[in-house]
Amino acid sequence: MIADAAIARVAAIEAERFRAANPRTFAHHAAATGWFQSVPFHWMKDWPSPVPIVAASAKHATLTSIDGQDYDDFCLGDTASLFGHSPPALAAALIRQATEGLSYMLPTERGAALSEKLAAMFGLPQWQVTTTASEANRAVIRWCRGISGRRKILTFNGAYHGAVDDAFVDLKAGTPMMRASLIGQVHDLRDTTTVIEFNDEQALASALRGGDIACVLAEPVMTNVGMVRDAPGFLSTLRKLCDETGTLLIFDETHTISSGYGGHGTVHGPKPDLMVVGKSIGGGVPCAVYGFSAEVAERMAALNAARPAGHSGIGTTLSANALAITAMDAMLSDVITPTAYDQMLRGAARLVAGLEQEIAAADLDWHVTQVGARVEFLTCLTPPHNGSEAKTAMHPELEAATHLFLANRGILLAPFHNMMLVSPVTGDDQIDRLVGAFADCVRALKE
Ligand code: PMP
Repeated sequence: MIADAAIARVAAIEAERFRAANPRTFAHHAAATGWFQSVPFHWMKDWPSPVPIVAASAKHATLTSIDGQDYDDFCLGDTASLFGHSPPALAAALIRQATEGLSYMLPTERGAALSEKLAAMFGLPQWQVTTTASEANRAVIRWCRGISGRRKILTFNGAYHGAVDDAFVDLKAGTPMMRASLIGQVHDLRDTTTVIEFNDEQALASALRGGDIACVLAEPVMTNVGMVRDAPGFLSTLRKLCDETGTLLIFDETHTISSGYGGHGTVHGPKPDLMVVGKSIGGGVPCAVYGFSAEVAERMAALNAARPAGHSGIGTTLSANALAITAMDAMLSDVITPTAYDQMLRGAARLVAGLEQEIAAADLDWHVTQVGARVEFLTCLTPPHNGSEAKTAMHPELEAATHLFLANRGILLAPFHNMMLVSPVTGDDQIDRLVGAFADCVRALKE
């Protein structure tokens, strides 16, 4: 539909346009020789612009660069700022905590109230805090292996759960392979990670039947390989098969918290045995949580009681520091509310309708997928059913050209696939600007 030559032409024009509009950004990168490849964290090189935009500040759903450009921000820190940049209630709580000490290695009363809020929102009774969602996923895998005495875990092809090496096994033409991009891992993870396609009930049944899998680690809707929706009945079959085989079910709701208040499992079911939420739960302050059922808590306590004192391999010094607890408490009290979700879902519906209209008007064989406040356009006609189909449908050059075109019109998409997030403070005018720029981009690509 869109010719490769047109993609290359648009990419070249937009790279030049970016260069002309961002002199200070280029000067910054030229001078930033102390950072490896000019950035403090190498993922920041993944943006499609010739060099990453250098942020000056962000407020609500607008980010401002050091070149003075304002961006309608639909990346929102890749979900960390899903509820808007620096919500006032969060900022006030952080300022207060900053004067009262930041890290004590002791519980606080505010922390006790927070655990109750987590239980009420997500429907699981017991919680622990980590510093990142990656760390929370590593922790729950460890607990599940520990309490079940089983070595293996199961993940879905194309999934991403953070810096969790156990989940870096993919299917290539049906054969499990270590993800080629993984750096410095010397163990063959295929010995202990079983990977199958999402939505494949038969493969799931036969993998779990052996009774040697400690846990299934899943996003209830895949969000990191484009978006792959659960086929009708798949998640309830997953729940049933886990119950029948004594396998623990973990939902990583770090991204699918976009689904609605309480996350995907709460809104649509089924209920997992354990769940992980990171990123947005602290509004951008590094923290994450994992919750679990009373039965899992009992088994964890028994395991703890039976092992000798010493390092458990779970958690770090800064886990549950006072700043993180305060951040989450402010977010759950005042920012992550049912009203906020009403606003996000309304905005997301406006975005979906606008994009669908432009795709139809341009007669493109693309489609739009939505998981609550998380919206994505995929450059294929039929929604992918699993990770392999989603990978085949991806078009990195087309994505990069589109993202750069939009960035040059003051709109930021996440650098990873075509993900757009609608926060409670994203304005209709911002959504309409995105839809308008998307239409202009499509026209440029079709010229
Ligand atoms: N789980 C999911 C579903 C994610 O998408 C990510 C990050 N994109 C993570 C976990 C890890 O989050 P973090 O990088 O903050 O540890």
